[in-house]
Amino acid sequence: MPGGRGAPILRSEISEIERAFPITEKYLPKAASETIKEHGLWQIEFDGTYTITTVDHKECIFVTWEGDIALCAIQKAFRNGEINGFEKPVSCHLFPIRIYPEKQKDTFFICYEEIPECEGGVSRGKKEHIPLLEFLSHPLARALGKERSEQLIESFKSL
Ligand code: SF4
Repeated sequence: MPGGRGAPILRSEISEIERAFPITEKYLPKAASETIKEHGLWQIEFDGTYTITTVDHKECIFVTWEGDIALCAIQKAFRNGEINGFEKPVSCHLFPIRIYPEKQKDTFFICYEEIPECEGGVSRGKKEHIPLLEFLSHPLARALGKERSEQLIESFKSL
């Protein structure tokens, strides 16, 4: 997907990404390996936030291909039992929901980012009656804690 920036990551996730790289390297295409050699695994953006490096401002360096299907190499290694305790960056896991913490307050803005690439998931969710927040309950619990994520899901059910 073309775009200016890679996936946002937390500072605390940098060490996890560095730990994951040697394990996932075997899944990565040559162009991603060359990009990593030249630019590293992650970037600091102009606003001081961190992102994962991309290949020519398109796909993430951790994209791995199975035929014409793009998968996350970190998640693939996690599912294969090669990585413990880190499934993928939490912002990726939550997408298409974005969570923005408010500075100096224990509150968050939560946004749904609607993009055409998610249309297949939206159609399936409608067909199978799976609300997005319930589908994302696991990453929501990662981001907000179990109790808070359950409160959020319950409050949406009552709408
Ligand atoms: S899910 Fe994996 S491949 Fe996709 S942007 Fe996140 S780290 Fe990169």
